[in-house]
Amino acid sequence: MATPQGKLKLLPLMRLHCPYCGSTPLRTEGSWFYFRTGCKVCDYVYEREPGYFTGASWMVSYAALALFGCGFGALLLYRLPDLDAMWIAAIVSVFLIVFGLWFVPYSMAIWLGFDHIVHPLTPADRYVEKK
Ligand SMILES: [Zn+2]
Repeated sequence: MATPQGKLKLLPLMRLHCPYCGSTPLRTEGSWFYFRTGCKVCDYVYEREPGYFTGASWMVSYAALALFGCGFGALLLYRLPDLDAMWIAAIVSVFLIVFGLWFVPYSMAIWLGFDHIVHPLTPADRYVEKK
């Protein structure tokens, strides 16, 4: 297999597939939250070290949730000025819980793509399936 290096493919990444070959799904089968450790087709390593995706949940998810939460809250305040602030906070909180759970794999994919740009894989970074 060719060692995965070079240009990142954004479309497969946003579809939660391997950013290099685009064929292998990033998530393990039947799971919403867990990623495979690598791609069997092109040897791309998804999880480079233990705890690799922790940065995704802290940096990408919180930034996205803060942005969407503030935007949605401001939209509600603008569109429904007579609505009590507690109701707006409750509506935004429920929205953020649902959106946050839905967004977890996408934040991990964004993190993977960002790391690929900043720290491209070397020939030594090959996925080897553990038995
Ligand atoms: Zn691949």
